[in-house]
Amino acid sequence: MLDGLNPQQREAVIHHGSPLLIVAGAGSGKTRVLTHRIAYLLAERKVHPGEILAITFTNKAAREMKDRIDKLVGPRSKAMWVMTFHSACMRILRREAKRLGFPSSFSIYDQADSQRLMAMVCREMELDPKRYPPRSFSAQVSNFKNELIDYETAIDKAGSHLEKTLAQAYKAYQLKLTEAGAMDFDDIIMNTVTLFQLFPEVAEHYRMRFRHVLVDEYQDTNHAQYILIRELVGHPELRTADGDVVRAGADQSELCVVGDADQSIYAFRGATIRNILEFERDYPDARTILLEQNYRSTQNILAAANAVISRNESRKPKNLWSDQGDGPKLVGYVADNEHDEAMFVAQEVDRLSDEDGVKASEVAVFYRTNAASRVFEEIFIRTGLPYKVVGGVRFYERKEVKDLLAYLRVLANPADVVSMRRILNVPKRGIGERAEAMIEALSSRERISFWDALRRADEAYGMATRSLNAVREFVALIEELIGKGAGMPPSALAEEVLVSTGYRAELEASEDPQDESRLENLNELISVASEFEEANPEGTLVEFLEQVSLVADADQIPDADGGQGVVTLMTLHTAKGLEFPVVFLTAMEDGVFPHIRSLGEPKELEEERRLAYVGITRAQKRLYITRAAVRSSWGAPSFNPASRFVSEVPGQLIDWRTDPEKSAWSAATARTPAARPTPAKSGGRTVPTLTPGDRVTHDAFGLGTVVAVDGVAEKTKVKIDFGSGGEKTLLLAYAPLEKL
Ligand code: ATP
Ligand code: MG
Repeated sequence: MLDGLNPQQREAVIHHGSPLLIVAGAGSGKTRVLTHRIAYLLAERKVHPGEILAITFTNKAAREMKDRIDKLVGPRSKAMWVMTFHSACMRILRREAKRLGFPSSFSIYDQADSQRLMAMVCREMELDPKRYPPRSFSAQVSNFKNELIDYETAIDKAGSHLEKTLAQAYKAYQLKLTEAGAMDFDDIIMNTVTLFQLFPEVAEHYRMRFRHVLVDEYQDTNHAQYILIRELVGHPELRTADGDVVRAGADQSELCVVGDADQSIYAFRGATIRNILEFERDYPDARTILLEQNYRSTQNILAAANAVISRNESRKPKNLWSDQGDGPKLVGYVADNEHDEAMFVAQEVDRLSDEDGVKASEVAVFYRTNAASRVFEEIFIRTGLPYKVVGGVRFYERKEVKDLLAYLRVLANPADVVSMRRILNVPKRGIGERAEAMIEALSSRERISFWDALRRADEAYGMATRSLNAVREFVALIEELIGKGAGMPPSALAEEVLVSTGYRAELEASEDPQDESRLENLNELISVASEFEEANPEGTLVEFLEQVSLVADADQIPDADGGQGVVTLMTLHTAKGLEFPVVFLTAMEDGVFPHIRSLGEPKELEEERRLAYVGITRAQKRLYITRAAVRSSWGAPSFNPASRFVSEVPGQLIDWRTDPEKSAWSAATARTPAARPTPAKSGGRTVPTLTPGDRVTHDAFGLGTVVAVDGVAEKTKVKIDFGSGGEKTLLLAYAPLEKL
């Protein structure tokens, strides 16, 4: 159990008697300590697996941890809870929801659902969506919840008109959620905290059950999660400076948290490194252990990571070292454009596989934003390089998948108003918006749920007979499905829904090729249900839906399929905690990464830099840094200077395959039009020389007059008056312009 650990790691594994905080840089074995500690608890301290709760950040990390523990202790690991915050809270809430007034089959609203609900609320409050954008309200309500601020407190604290409006919307939103028997993602944490605080005996029960609580990636917990843990392990005794006991200490569970302040990348979701800083204050008897040896990366990679992160001002300096040898230098490449960049990656992967026997599964390509995967996918398909996108392709966000899930959710919980309204007229059955509005009016007039209003539709004012009949048929259909569903496994029920609603028939009859892929997606969902049933023979519909809603986008990480495997494409955020022998950090451009929003915002820039540190430290042996001189964004070419994070890496660590200073201008002029896809200036047009007053034509905007010319070389911008098309400022080098 203690083999393969250095002295500090060993100390962390065997420590007991007080809370334990392990703060250490990337790749220093924090996660390894956590797994070994669990194994040690079971083997040496005779802890029962059921007494262990280990919190990880993704389901994938949880699975990996379970596998590793499985190897160390065998199948006894099954009784352990190794899961994400959300999964653990969900399990607790399923058992205890009634205490909070929720049905145990409560629905879970993902971000899209909750935004729909907020949009409904804002419409009912007759708020001007321009002044009070529902999305921004949703985000702010989420912030409240991450800080454990309920709507009553929000109303009390609200000062400005805007704050008051927001707080009222929060209240209306929350009441609607409760009425729908639903919780959003943030509620899952907040309600568990409420549960523990309102019902100390429940907290006590779980505290007695989980004698050992271990948390990985602790730096990314937000305030709500922090308090949750504190409630779960029990408060330490609290004394005044004079030594008077303010609060008696509970019989605390053992707490072990591991994290790295330099890898905190979820501040935008309310994560605060204050949780690390305050740990020692809240747990005065806590023990802190530092780990300093990195076992993951070569010296060159580590030096690059250290150089970048040392630019952050608000941090404690660390002394992370590795004895893996220098390894190859980092490789830098400046592509002409994003296609060229993807092509370079594909060719390098090929070369590495031929020359060094590197498997595709050992390679990861990271980017800052989800949308960036598309070009890589295109090129990888063209070049026949097997790959998998993690996150990006949001299967569960596709319309047809959400439709079918909405049906299943309605069958599990007819009060779920967002799902009910989603499927009310899907497939079309003659219940239009007017009829829906009348049902809604009936529901508020009679103070009954939307579902009850549907059942009493004949009481709605002014409902046309045709609509009324359609509503009656819909109600009969749902009731029949609910009746049938009771004894059916989820996959069979899903199929039944598709057949009895005519959804499947409609898609099958369609000539639209897209509908064929929709059918495939629905079949895929049914196979997800079948897999669930195989793994959980006793599983219910509610449990299936729960599992589905927990498959966060961050989580669809492919399992290595033996053989050569596939290249993994993912965002930097998703990459946390993972490691790969070969890593490509792409689109290293100021404005892309660091993200444009963070430029000029020192705090956000520091968070971007931590993200860069996370990215760099994923690499074990080889690290590539690429960027494109020209990149099309939103359909228009943009050229961004090299990312400042690249210039923060000492020059001697990088082996450039191209001119590191290559600019958009030289890329554009050096390009041979036939050889490479050209994002701009298609057809090999030359860049015109323009002065104010010149008449031009633009491929999209038509005829115009040059108003102003500004900047030099590739940075030349022209302002053109397109008459009724308005004035536009364009980059001369890339705008499809011709001088007349
Ligand atoms: P991150 O901050 O990225 O989450 P981490 O601190 O959790 O990193 P681990 O993933 O636990 O680091 O470890 C990094 C790598 O180093 C793993 O491959 C792990 O198996 C290996 N490792 C850790 N400690 C040792 C050790 N004492 N001897 C050999 N290998 C080790
Ligand atoms: Mg880790």
